[in-house]
Amino acid sequence: MIGAIIALLVVLAAAYAVTQVGGVITLIFVAAVLVLAYRRLSLLAFTVTFTVLLALYTTAGAPAGIWKGLLWVLLAGLWLLNVRPLRKSLVTRPFLGAYLKLLPSMSQTEREALEAGTVWWDGELFTGAPQWNKLLAAQPPRLSAEEQAFLDGPCEELCRLLDEWHITHERADLPPEAWELLKTRGFFAMIIPRKYGGMEFSAYAHSCVLAKISSRSPTAASNAAVPNSLGPAELLNHYGTEAQKNYYLPRLARGEEVPCFALTGPRAGSDAASIPDTGVVCRGIWQGEEIVGLKLNFSKRYITLAPIATVIGLAFRMFDPDKLLGGKTDIGITVALIPRHTPGITIGRRHFPLNVPFQNGPIQGHDVFVPLDFIVGGAAMAGSGWRMLVEQLSVGRCISLPSNTTGAAKAGVWATGAYARIRSQFNTPVGRFEGVETVIARMVGLTYTMDAGRSVTAGAIDGGEKPSVPSAMLKYHVTEMGRQVGNDAMDVHGGKGIMLGPRNYLGRGYQVTPVAITVEGANLLTRNLIIFGQGAIRCHPFVLREMTAARDPDRAKGVDEFDRALFGHIGFTISNAVRSFIMALTHARFTRAPVAGETARYYQHIVRFSASFAFAVDVAMLTLGGYLKKKEGLSARLGDVLSCMYLASMVLKHHMNQGAPPEDLPVVEWACRNLLYHAQEQLHGFLRNFPNRALAAVMRGLIFPRGLVYSAPGDRLAHRVAALVTASTPTRNRLCAGIYRTLEPHNPLGLLEEAMLLAEQLEPLLKRIRVEGVKTGKVTALDLPGQISQALSAGIVSETEAAALRDYDRKTMDLINVDDFASQELGTQAEPLTAQSRPHVA
Ligand SMILES: Cc1cc2nc3c(=O)[nH]c(=O)nc-3n(C[C@H](O)[C@H](O)[C@H](O)COP(=O)(O)OP(=O)(O)OC[C@H]3O[C@@H](n4cnc5c(N)ncnc54)[C@H](O)[C@@H]3O)c2cc1C
Repeated sequence: MIGAIIALLVVLAAAYAVTQVGGVITLIFVAAVLVLAYRRLSLLAFTVTFTVLLALYTTAGAPAGIWKGLLWVLLAGLWLLNVRPLRKSLVTRPFLGAYLKLLPSMSQTEREALEAGTVWWDGELFTGAPQWNKLLAAQPPRLSAEEQAFLDGPCEELCRLLDEWHITHERADLPPEAWELLKTRGFFAMIIPRKYGGMEFSAYAHSCVLAKISSRSPTAASNAAVPNSLGPAELLNHYGTEAQKNYYLPRLARGEEVPCFALTGPRAGSDAASIPDTGVVCRGIWQGEEIVGLKLNFSKRYITLAPIATVIGLAFRMFDPDKLLGGKTDIGITVALIPRHTPGITIGRRHFPLNVPFQNGPIQGHDVFVPLDFIVGGAAMAGSGWRMLVEQLSVGRCISLPSNTTGAAKAGVWATGAYARIRSQFNTPVGRFEGVETVIARMVGLTYTMDAGRSVTAGAIDGGEKPSVPSAMLKYHVTEMGRQVGNDAMDVHGGKGIMLGPRNYLGRGYQVTPVAITVEGANLLTRNLIIFGQGAIRCHPFVLREMTAARDPDRAKGVDEFDRALFGHIGFTISNAVRSFIMALTHARFTRAPVAGETARYYQHIVRFSASFAFAVDVAMLTLGGYLKKKEGLSARLGDVLSCMYLASMVLKHHMNQGAPPEDLPVVEWACRNLLYHAQEQLHGFLRNFPNRALAAVMRGLIFPRGLVYSAPGDRLAHRVAALVTASTPTRNRLCAGIYRTLEPHNPLGLLEEAMLLAEQLEPLLKRIRVEGVKTGKVTALDLPGQISQALSAGIVSETEAAALRDYDRKTMDLINVDDFASQELGTQAEPLTAQSRPHVA
């Protein structure tokens, strides 16, 4: 509303100006100045061009009265700002004084978290004018012949061994032969360099392996993800001493050691830096000799692979009260590798994560004495644990959960598309009802987005990036999208998804969803605190520069650098305000796009939202400062806008990486439209909740002068998208590539595809029975087997056709049927457990 009023006022002012003497010249002058701001000229270039424009404007005789005076004062001010010594004393130094008072103090831990990883495409989105060539020039991710062979060989073999009902209900573990395969065929060695006997896979190959396993068994995928994620191997790779690497890495690669990583405890979950677990430097006896070592006391829980781990990566806080190492007494968070059988460790009990029994459990340690060279990287790395963790998380978080979730979502789309084709109600495949189409289209669009995000970002990692902010965005959004896809798959399957048993291929995936939401930074924390909190400082082109300069102990150098950053920042904000206004007004129609054709509009809209976002970020940081960290609702919404732009860019790049197939365009459109609509709504939510209402109104005028005009995907688009996966199409195959869909007994993904193909093939026969049999009264049976027999007797179908139809009916009903059990088969305990026999509290 306010935006519309401001836009109306601008139009009226313009109309009025045109009726005045010199009005047209004034409009040309204002437009030229706006173009200068839009083009983001340097201060000097702007001042010179403004001087020329003002001289021309004055020569034309148009400016008059106070307007003329104001313009000349402005010009004088601009020239003064170009005199750096003057501007430093008049503006920069006083501003720096106030800035330092507002600047929140930053602990070493926070600083290390902020500095971890690299800034990639996320940084471009903060500029308001992203340079597309940076993204589009990146090489598409590719699998080497060896990596492809691993997916087609050991990975298929593993999937064939996995029966999720047996694993989750009957055994509560993977079968021994699956463990054997995981350990001995390199599944735990994907990130270990070849020279230590590992597979040294690319990030993309690693991601594809996890996605494939996840499409078959969430339990196996969780077990397989951990040794390749943040843990002993990753830490040793980057920080281990040669002796540690030479000892552990080959053993981990061969599966002789099973690793786990223990950070979380009962008192420190999300706030992991506050762990109360201690390692105190002291003298003690190790292998019969007195040495200086560490006495560890800790209590950890939720640790994946702990029950079967042979080596524990342990995070604790290290102290040296007697200064035996000669330095600080509080050394800080440290990471060590502790063999399972070290005296004092209690390990082996299991948690039960939502009926998906991957190995997970608590670990306690009481006065566990170990030598200092158990510290990863040796004693020299004592106190560097937090930096190690956050640095490695910036890569690991992009892969494990996004890959597992995407694999599961692809399996969900594959299964749901086929099921919606073979399951008919009201004489129609359920996938053809508009209400169901909408849900299937959402599954497809979200899965495409997830796949694009995980594969393009994995490609960037393979290109040398360590994208820390994208890793948080992927972790949060891909797992949330996975949750939506899981819910949707359940809805489309109706009761079939709910009745657990060997025939249920959805239930366990649905149950395990909150695990992905919780681990590696629980989603509420990641959305509200991490994405924008880290992004605002890390990716912003000026904020980190300003902060570093402000804190520079060399005062003169600091003021100089702060001055450059500050004035760069002011120009940047003004330019983004102008860019946002012009692009919103024109619906970004004249914005340059790097491609022509149907996707060009999405590139333009991303640039528009990037300018609006960058402008909103600056206003929020300038007016709220450190308080923005507490206003989590605002940070979260800005983080959402950033993430939506990031994911939409990934979608466009992914489409290009796949050769821009035109038949996928409806899906690309759905995904981009959904993301950009969401970006618009979150930006609007930010403005509605911004505490300073006057500023919110101004921002609104500049960001949404035409109101909220970007629309969500519509029903017609949903119809086109759903049709692409409820039949056998290249799009369905491309989207769901890489899942375990081999046609074999007990693989629902293969069997569903087979039934769907039969449904397509036999549709003309079924139609013939309806038209020539049911409608004419020759076929009166209510079920398909009866109808087939009557149609055969009436000569409507041949023997061969009847046999094909019976085969189809049997295969379809096999998939639609659910399991039932005798009562005693379901309970595990006839009597309630006594207080003594109940599981321990960890
Ligand atoms: C199945 C499973 C496997 C795991 N594996 C491992 C492992 O191998 N190693 C390991 O060390 N840990 C592991 N974890 C632990 C996991 O990392 C933690 O569960 C996670 O960090 C959250 O801690 P918490 O569960 O104690 O939740 P809490 O910290 O108690 O948080 C509760 C809720 O509050 C939210 N929250 C907290 N602070 C904020 C904030 N500032 N702003 C907004 N929201 C906030 C959280 O997002 C969460 O939703 C595992 C957990 C699970 C469930």
